[in-house]
Amino acid sequence: MNVAIDPELCIGCGACEEICPAVFHLDEAVGMAEVMDAGACEFVGCCEAAEENCPVEAITVEE
Ligand code: SF4
Repeated sequence: MNVAIDPELCIGCGACEEICPAVFHLDEAVGMAEVMDAGACEFVGCCEAAEENCPVEAITVEE
């Protein structure tokens, strides 16, 4: 799976990390989330939930 965060949109709210900590990490120093392990999406099954719950629709998850 391909997972991307648009840095122009991310507001650093941390929701993605809360929902899917195996894949997303909030870098508090820069106030932005990053994708740690997109490959884990296949196993943890929470990437789509993170995508749906991002308040600014910054996350894109593709097969
Ligand atoms: S949920 Fe969206 S806005 Fe919030 S930290 Fe994650 S990517 Fe950024």
